[in-house]
Amino acid sequence: MTDILVLGAGYTGTTAAIRAAVKTRRTGGRVTLVNASTRFTERLRLHQTAAGERLTDYPLDEVVAGTGIDFVQGRVARLDVERREVTLQGGRVLGYDKLVYALGTVTDAAVPGVSEHAYAYDDYRQAVRLAERLDTLEEGTVVVAGGGLTGVESAAELAEARPHLRVVLLTRGRPGSMMGEQARAYLDAALDRLGVEVRSGVEITKVLPDAVEPAGGELIHSDATLWTTGTRGLPLAEASGLTADARGRIVVDSALRSVSHPDVYAVGDAAAVSQRFGVMHGTCQGGIPTGLHAADSLADTLRGKTPKPFRFGYFHQPLSLGRKDAVIQFTRPDDSPRRWYLKGRAAVAYKETVSGSPLPTYKLLKRGLVPAWVFSLTAGR
Ligand SMILES: Cc1cc2nc3c(=O)[nH]c(=O)nc-3n(C[C@H](O)[C@H](O)[C@H](O)COP(=O)(O)OP(=O)(O)OC[C@H]3O[C@@H](n4cnc5c(N)ncnc54)[C@H](O)[C@@H]3O)c2cc1C
Repeated sequence: MTDILVLGAGYTGTTAAIRAAVKTRRTGGRVTLVNASTRFTERLRLHQTAAGERLTDYPLDEVVAGTGIDFVQGRVARLDVERREVTLQGGRVLGYDKLVYALGTVTDAAVPGVSEHAYAYDDYRQAVRLAERLDTLEEGTVVVAGGGLTGVESAAELAEARPHLRVVLLTRGRPGSMMGEQARAYLDAALDRLGVEVRSGVEITKVLPDAVEPAGGELIHSDATLWTTGTRGLPLAEASGLTADARGRIVVDSALRSVSHPDVYAVGDAAAVSQRFGVMHGTCQGGIPTGLHAADSLADTLRGKTPKPFRFGYFHQPLSLGRKDAVIQFTRPDDSPRRWYLKGRAAVAYKETVSGSPLPTYKLLKRGLVPAWVFSLTAGR
């Protein structure tokens, strides 16, 4: 038997675990999947949770049912890559022959006050806590820090769901600066229509209990601050001796194995995966293919075959603007914007399709099949 331990049951860890279970069934693979909570968190919908929406609950033991995967609830506290052991909070120790690391990222809390006074999307509970805080406000100001896609989606969602609150979006550059000019103009108009106050060129230096402090400016009052400006890998990866990049993500080779410890595979947001265009950034679009490829690499290695190199190219930047509007920027493989974009109801339908429940994908994987969209993003790149 080969003990395959998968850490993290988000989009990418669950993908890797199911694929590894299917692909190593005949070669004696025994897969254990560890996750902090018993529910599958749809991270890409956490802005909806923050706005007060109740999402469908997916118990993880049901998600992996029928695969032979042993699901263990527990929070990983320590990783010993020399002894090949993982210690969970509470002291339980799990050994492994091969490890797939899929613990995602946490908010980069380098700015003083973020950990103490800001809400973030590190887990489902934090998004629920923000919704509960907003429930207590009959009036007031919500500050969303960060003008990337997560910040823009959040500001729009909160403004639409809580029209009695003032929503202020603070960004260094223009909101959605990675999109093309026309898609950006569309999102500017949507934020304006929803009453979001956008302040660009703002560098936040401190978060206080009831305000944020911009560099060289007056305090901006805030009854609730949401921090979306950036993420980094969990400190436990680097602390274990795994080679990590400046953002704490595990550096992997073309087969998605750690460059320092080849028995460890890293996938999704937690991995620094190099492609011709540079290092990939965290999305489900890129993360699910990494989960799949790591499992295939692992299965090939167990069979004595040389794993294939991972190739990926982006296709789109999907952005919801509340529940009734959206804009989709189509991209080149390096994520730079193409001329084409989709807006309005067609974009809402598109966005709902691509961010829908991952269960249909997992059902296909359980049958040994790979979704067509993964082929289109990975083949021939
Ligand atoms: C609001 C928002 C909107 C987004 N929209 C999009 C989008 O439209 N399209 C897109 O492609 N991407 C989007 N993303 C990004 C996308 O959600 C991430 O890239 C994706 O979730 C990465 O998957 P992952 O499996 O690597 O990590 P995660 O989904 O974060 O999963 C990590 C798992 O590890 C578990 N875990 C963490 N620490 C521990 C520990 N110590 N012990 C045990 N378990 C632990 C967590 O509970 C979680 O289940 C969005 C993100 C956010 C926050």
